[in-house]
Amino acid sequence: MKIYNSLTRTRDEFIPNEAGKVAMYTCGPTVYHYAHIGNLRSYIMEDVLEKYLSYAGYDVKRVMNITDVGHLTSDADTGEDKMLKGAQREKKTVMEIAKFYTDAFFADCEKLRIKKPEIVEPATGCIPEFIKMIEQLLEKGYAYAAGGNIYFDTSKLEKYYVFNDFNEEDLEVGVRDSVEEDTNKRNKADFVLWFTKSKFEDQELKWESPFGLGYPGWHIECSCIARKHLGEYLDIHCGGIDNAFPHHTNEIAQSESTFGHKWCNYWFHVHHLNTAGGKMSKSKGEFLTVSLLEEKGYDPLCYRLFCLQSHYRKNLVFSWENLDNAAVAYRKLVNRIAALKDEGEMDEAAFAEAKARFCEALDNDMNTSLAVTALYDVFKMKTSDKTKLALIADFDRVLSLDLIAAAAKARKPEAAAPAEADVSDELRAYIEAQIEARRAAKAEKNYAEADRIRVALAEQGITLIDTKEGTRFTVAK
Ligand code: AMP
Ligand code: ZN
Repeated sequence: MKIYNSLTRTRDEFIPNEAGKVAMYTCGPTVYHYAHIGNLRSYIMEDVLEKYLSYAGYDVKRVMNITDVGHLTSDADTGEDKMLKGAQREKKTVMEIAKFYTDAFFADCEKLRIKKPEIVEPATGCIPEFIKMIEQLLEKGYAYAAGGNIYFDTSKLEKYYVFNDFNEEDLEVGVRDSVEEDTNKRNKADFVLWFTKSKFEDQELKWESPFGLGYPGWHIECSCIARKHLGEYLDIHCGGIDNAFPHHTNEIAQSESTFGHKWCNYWFHVHHLNTAGGKMSKSKGEFLTVSLLEEKGYDPLCYRLFCLQSHYRKNLVFSWENLDNAAVAYRKLVNRIAALKDEGEMDEAAFAEAKARFCEALDNDMNTSLAVTALYDVFKMKTSDKTKLALIADFDRVLSLDLIAAAAKARKPEAAAPAEADVSDELRAYIEAQIEARRAAKAEKNYAEADRIRVALAEQGITLIDTKEGTRFTVAK
């Protein structure tokens, strides 16, 4: 398998440290709010990577952190604490919102069929590990105390900016961006390992440490959580592209300075999901969540298909129209599968040939859109339906679009003839007209009107259910 490695800026052959095994680390969410579908794009693509590595026969051990402390609004150690801000917004404690949004994150993941990593570790559970690494960095001369905080000294490194995609000068500007300068820092790029002093005095979570009562910086948590579960050598580390700098750059600085050797061989970065207005964010514009997609009648797996249809190293633009197209494609795909009958002989040669095409796509820097094409090609094959169904089930181990189960549902007679049988012809005609009006409103992107129709029907006891096969309804007795 060839994979683009941000460290070498080339597509490298993937060779793990230990034959047959993969040590994989993923930066987890900061649990101060719901994940937006941009965050989830990263997790979908990382999920495909993990599943494809397993599919290809590797024994994958994947670790993810949950950031519940230390992440400030600017990744460069300035601004407010995101968790604290979230807690204040909701008048709850930091740990309460951490629990709530961690659960919400995994509920979203489940809807998108993103597998929960084998090990998930919240940062607040690893304070002794952070303290240990910071002590080692101090001992080795890579860290210093200033103004009450402990900083990493980037001038001690031969090369700090390891992801060469970036221009050093731009990065320095990036570090300075929106910053009232932290005069404790010896060098602009230095970053905080342990805070005892920050601009805000109401920090909720603090721990005793040899450096004083305080809390860890964001970057140290990933270095330490990876070390705790995966040791000193990682095969692959993933995250969204915005994490490459400064977060991953700082993780590398900390880990390699502590260990005295190279830490992680492959860096996998997923590019952004944008809206027409630019980068997606939780604070500006419409806050796009999985729940919002569901409220608007979309099956979350349509969004998964939408993501798979494009390459993870390209920015992807989200629009309702694009999602509608993916929803139509998904419905058609399921219906085509539903039309296959589990009949005929298994054709091993045809199976192997199609599987090779699928693997070729994913071996080529995880080209999921070609992998989806390989899935569509199955329908064109001159072979038994049994073979086709076996191929679809096999590919879906990686794509995770729930295709076989969705097709089975679509095949059931009640899918074709919904359980609305006992309403009068007159009422049925009325409801169907409303469903059609709502569909037309959606097609014109008039979501306010579509929502109005749904709510008006609900007030009359008529609930619309959007399914892969179309919209159905129930009527309260
Ligand atoms: P956070 O919860 O902010 O720590 O982000 C969680 C993950 O989502 C990280 O891997 C980010 O790099 C990634 N991410 C943030 N914004 C986007 C976006 N618009 N598109 C794709 N990934 C994103
Ligand atoms: Zn991280």
